[in-house]
Amino acid sequence: MFNDAYTQRVYEQVTHRDGEQKEFLQAVREVLESLEPVIRQHPEFESAGVLERLVEPERLVQFRVAWTDDQGRTQVNRGYRVQFNSALGPYKGGLRFHPSVNQSIVKFLGFEQIMKNALTGLPMGGGKGGSDFNPKGRSDAEVMRFCQAFMTELQRHIGQFTDVPAGDIGVGGREIGYLFGQYKRIRDEFTGTLTGKALEFGGSLARNEATGYGLCYFTDEAMSSIRGDSLADKTVVISGSGNVAIFAAEKAQQLGATVLTVSDSSGYIHDPEGIQVEVVKDIKLKRRGRIKEYAQLVPSAEYHEGCEGVWSVPCDVALPCATQNELDIEGAKTLVANGCTVVCEGANMPTTPQAIETLQQAGVIYGPGKAANAGGVAVSGLEMSQNSQRLSWSFEDVDRRLHAIMVDIFHTCAKAADSYGATNDLMRGANIAGFLKVGNAMIAQGV
Ligand code: GLU
Repeated sequence: MFNDAYTQRVYEQVTHRDGEQKEFLQAVREVLESLEPVIRQHPEFESAGVLERLVEPERLVQFRVAWTDDQGRTQVNRGYRVQFNSALGPYKGGLRFHPSVNQSIVKFLGFEQIMKNALTGLPMGGGKGGSDFNPKGRSDAEVMRFCQAFMTELQRHIGQFTDVPAGDIGVGGREIGYLFGQYKRIRDEFTGTLTGKALEFGGSLARNEATGYGLCYFTDEAMSSIRGDSLADKTVVISGSGNVAIFAAEKAQQLGATVLTVSDSSGYIHDPEGIQVEVVKDIKLKRRGRIKEYAQLVPSAEYHEGCEGVWSVPCDVALPCATQNELDIEGAKTLVANGCTVVCEGANMPTTPQAIETLQQAGVIYGPGKAANAGGVAVSGLEMSQNSQRLSWSFEDVDRRLHAIMVDIFHTCAKAADSYGATNDLMRGANIAGFLKVGNAMIAQGV
């Protein structure tokens, strides 16, 4: 519900232009609603047309990606890069390879990235990209040819000082390696134009761990600051079994929690004795297998078909780490009924608006992805710094900086929420704090 004429007008404009882009509208609506108290206190944002500009990408490229499969047939996919906002620095954000990728998905992710990157305190603008290519079941050689074809077009739009992509769903170390190789071949330069690289060619230690570890640092800080509590001795439900979920599970356990679940798109594993992270790493990261295999290897675990069931496992803390809108109102009600009091997002926009309302009304600490999962892009920012200096920092050094950034993000969000009459509402706090930095920079730089 809008209570302000300016935010309502901007939202209507977006609906008029992009009415069919439901994920993008969802992300925009949440931010505009959160910003109403800011807009009322600072009329300069309206007079400079900041919100109209914020919701419209600076540039959106769409391109054909033609490649040859192992049978010698030509395949055609669609590639995207949205360069959403460069007020704070070069566009920065991941690439997602998944059949669901379309303009709406890329734009919602790019839009969220603007506020997220601002919250890290590092000089990065917001961008995102990807393709509807489905890596599932594709051979290594097919993935390589796809990445090369994708980069052959993308390279003309990116650069170390303009736009620095990284990974997201479906894009991990293997894909970044192939993308980097092709960029270097065509542009004949060895620079930090991609992050998430392997250590041998300019990657940062702790980049793989960063999103999951950062999520736990944020969660622990929120629990300690709001309730004088911590992750120690808590039961934790995690969805997903990719990079984010795996390292969130690892850090939660290091902080003394018991992780009960992980999932993939087919179903979930419940292991009351605590998920064995090394087994998940072996199945998902090394062998690219299905999570179902965990139950065949670990006798204490049960496998259940259907990934939504994960929210029915009673827990103290839930960390959605799979994908957008995976936690709906039914899931949220079940979590609350079973005593869950903390939900922090490792994925981007995994909780539906109605589910967020349910959680917040029940007094659950709700940590939105754009704050809680910012550790990934934060360490990407640190990778850029190391590349510029031609140095590499130790794991401990990067991890220490990551921890400090996540603690700072929590307090920045909490303080912004408090200043605008929404104490402990970290969603509003994240949107307000991220926006203020970007909005002020946009005003300072003129139209
Ligand atoms: N895809 C990640 C995110 O959603 C990381 C982006 C990056 O490292 O640039 O923030």
